[in-house]
Amino acid sequence: MSEAEKFDLLVIGAGSGGVRAARIAAGHGARVAICEESRVGGTCVIRGCVPKKLLVYGAHFAEDFEDAKAYGWSFSDLKFDWNRLIANKDKEIDRLNGIYHKLLDNAGVTTIMGRGEFIDAHRVRIGERVVQADRILVATGGRPFVPDFPGSDLVITSDEAFHLPELPGHIVIIGGGYIAVEFAGIFNALGSRVDLVYRRELILRGFDDDLRRNLEHELEQKDIQIMHHCNIASIERDGQRLRIRYDNDEQTVTDQVMFATGRHPHTRGLGLEQAGVKTASDGAICVDSHSRSSVPHIFAVGDVTNRVNLTPVAIREGHAFADSEFGGTDRTADHALVPAAVFSQPPIGTVGYTEAQAREQFGTIRVYKSAFRALKHTLSGRQEKTYMKLIVNDSDDKVIGLHVLGMDAAEIVQGFAVAVKAGLTKQQFDATVGIHPTAGEELVTMRDFELIG
Ligand code: NDP
Repeated sequence: MSEAEKFDLLVIGAGSGGVRAARIAAGHGARVAICEESRVGGTCVIRGCVPKKLLVYGAHFAEDFEDAKAYGWSFSDLKFDWNRLIANKDKEIDRLNGIYHKLLDNAGVTTIMGRGEFIDAHRVRIGERVVQADRILVATGGRPFVPDFPGSDLVITSDEAFHLPELPGHIVIIGGGYIAVEFAGIFNALGSRVDLVYRRELILRGFDDDLRRNLEHELEQKDIQIMHHCNIASIERDGQRLRIRYDNDEQTVTDQVMFATGRHPHTRGLGLEQAGVKTASDGAICVDSHSRSSVPHIFAVGDVTNRVNLTPVAIREGHAFADSEFGGTDRTADHALVPAAVFSQPPIGTVGYTEAQAREQFGTIRVYKSAFRALKHTLSGRQEKTYMKLIVNDSDDKVIGLHVLGMDAAEIVQGFAVAVKAGLTKQQFDATVGIHPTAGEELVTMRDFELIG
């Protein structure tokens, strides 16, 4: 075995959380190495948030061109080139990958390309090299999960969806979470026929029920077929295509089957048992509020801990870890009232309690709702509705939940999330003058409510 190279910190996994931790720790004067088996940047930059949002932009032009006609535009010969979109998206991802490498270099972090595997609690093998570190941070993220069934090897996940050689004529997407809903919107807008297959009643479990119902309605208006209470029994090849047999005995033949049935913590083959690090039944590394594992000098941040699996949360966990361990400031990441968005078409933005959660956790609540057609669509004629909802704790008037479905929902909610996080009251919302004409002004002018509890 080669002699160990010594560092103060080794980070395993150069995604959002790992890179932030490495840079901040190095800035505090630590000698830091980071290893990465795939590409620096991680899920978000390479095969997640960023390329997905670029595809969402690309797809939305379809509706924009339609809507433009009512605004006086006319054009002919409108064509879409999937390969050009994918190539341009890849170019941008390459650029970001380069920036991440540079950020690490400039911070003085040693980047080692290769897969890390614990030899023992202080040493990690990376290819031919052995790194020994006083502290080790695991930030290996998650991997798509596909359940086992006959033909499961024939399906794709979001990883492959970013690199399809051609736009499928028909795609069946399994799952009712973020990824399923976002890709259903992308493929549908670009012209694929899309079937969304979900095992329960209503997609996006965990989100506010009114938004879930309204989003399903909007997706169906766009001709996405949603199949509820349905699972795949088997898939087999049928010439160039795939034949799906569902558990309700129905069959369909399609071009692609994409599974978006969740992501699991990426801990297999890491050698955590050699280091004595405890994991939960789903493989997630068990950590305390300081992201410390069962081994005091081994930490974990991001999706590999399966807490709040969102990039900005992983970044905060990584930053807090580096400040606490190397910067002399004791910090933890705050997981309360984390805003989130689903880049469906139309998108969702949300922060705080859903109505169902608020009913359970608070005494009496006030629920304010509003549904309207965005000004843009008065001319375009599009029937799409914007839907907004505020949940207020009646005892202290604080806004404890804010949910938006509609154009720009993510941008709107990012701003309002500051107010909800700050614990502002409905009265303070109402004291804020709206910007007219916007959709967001609705959130400071809501008057009618339902008292519950
Ligand atoms: P989610 O956990 O959001 O959704 C998984 C979906 O698959 C659920 O509808 C679930 O159903 C269903 N499912 C799970 N197992 C099976 C199975 N065996 N058979 C059939 N259906 C199944 O996972 P995603 O893959 O959509 O996304 C992974 C994570 O990535 C998200 O949790 C999120 O944190 C992150 N993400 C965030 C985005 C954003 O911020 N915009 C975008 C994309 C991903 P059920 O409801 O019954 O459990």
